[in-house]
Amino acid sequence: MADHTADVIVIGGGIAGCAAAHFLSQRGQSVLLFEKDSVAAHASGFAFGVLLPRLFDDPSDPVDELTKLSLELHRQVSDELSEPGEPLQRRKASVLLALDEPMAAQYRGLYRTHSSSLLGDIRWLEYGELSHIEARISQHVIGGLYLGESAEISPSAFTSAMWRSAEARGARLVNTEVESVVADGSGSVGVQAGGETYSAAKVIVAAGPWSSRLLEGTGATVPVEPLKGQIVRLRAPGPPMKISLWYDSDYAGSKPDGLLWCGTTEERVGFDEQPTESARAGILASAQKVLPFLADAEMVTQTACLRPVTADGFPAVGPLEDDSNVIVATGGGRNGIVLGPALGKVAADMALGTDTGIDAGFLSPARFRS
Ligand SMILES: Cc1cc2nc3c(=O)[nH]c(=O)nc-3n(C[C@H](O)[C@H](O)[C@H](O)COP(=O)(O)OP(=O)(O)OC[C@H]3O[C@@H](n4cnc5c(N)ncnc54)[C@H](O)[C@@H]3O)c2cc1C
Repeated sequence: MADHTADVIVIGGGIAGCAAAHFLSQRGQSVLLFEKDSVAAHASGFAFGVLLPRLFDDPSDPVDELTKLSLELHRQVSDELSEPGEPLQRRKASVLLALDEPMAAQYRGLYRTHSSSLLGDIRWLEYGELSHIEARISQHVIGGLYLGESAEISPSAFTSAMWRSAEARGARLVNTEVESVVADGSGSVGVQAGGETYSAAKVIVAAGPWSSRLLEGTGATVPVEPLKGQIVRLRAPGPPMKISLWYDSDYAGSKPDGLLWCGTTEERVGFDEQPTESARAGILASAQKVLPFLADAEMVTQTACLRPVTADGFPAVGPLEDDSNVIVATGGGRNGIVLGPALGKVAADMALGTDTGIDAGFLSPARFRS
């Protein structure tokens, strides 16, 4: 019979769970990763994959430290796990487009007022300057905030690389749905899956939007909901775009697969992961407003997946209670790819009882205790 014990059980083969498995295995811990489908089968395999930089140091933002840590971990993991000639992370500028005067005034103001405290290569570009970088942007766009230090990854490749690294150090994948997390109050923890019991010193719940359901049996309330998002992938005429564009709450960018991806939607429709025609029409209309040449693009495929969003919109990372051996790592929401490595690393540090290097108190899931 296969060994049903490990130092740490991780539930969820998305970016947060695979990051936890990677950092734990690196430190000699035995890991069992439970995944009901396959690694990166949901949002972590189908996200847009842009890592926007932080605009400034903002200690008042509760996610600032986590974001800073995560962008650093992204760089480290990419350096460590990239295959020769195939970097997991590539530098690619993003531009936040201003579509009307109030938005342009806001970006110009941000740039002028804070230019000395802005981090990295951040500039306001009027339409004329912008059109030198990408001539196909509509003349109705007023200008944009240029973020030269954005990067992009393939979320699927990055997540899988972290899992392969963990597996190479002995982590084992259990391709089964966890039915429940067992925490009996005496300190012993484990999971029930496929009619069998597995036990460990710690359990990390990184099950994305499914995390709430899994925790029901423990008596803890961690409100995480699915927020559906869709992307269309187009074969567009002309050369690939050198920059990614952000407009309203949407975006567009050329990808290494040769296609131009446009997103997105924010839909509260439960666990439905089916692409819809109405989303496609909305995404295309929004994209064509800033990139009119996309009217001639050919639709290749459309994807839909679910972001994990907590009740207050902030991530949840930490033990269920101060002395609990069940640790949650979820709630990345629209920034879950950016935040994934830090969610996994902080959860791994907490499982080991080592310093997380950040003040994660505010992000504790215990904040949802009534
Ligand atoms: C359209 C779209 C575009 C996005 N683009 C970006 C972006 O550009 N940048 C960014 O930062 N973020 C982006 N995101 C957000 C990001 O994709 C998510 O926040 C992130 O992938 C969540 O990762 P996760 O590991 O927490 O969850 P998931 O990726 O959902 O992984 C959870 C895993 O747990 C497994 N699981 C669940 N329950 C069980 C169980 N009972 N037993 C076993 N396994 C279980 C699931 O099968 C799943 O594989 C985007 C999201 C969407 C929808």
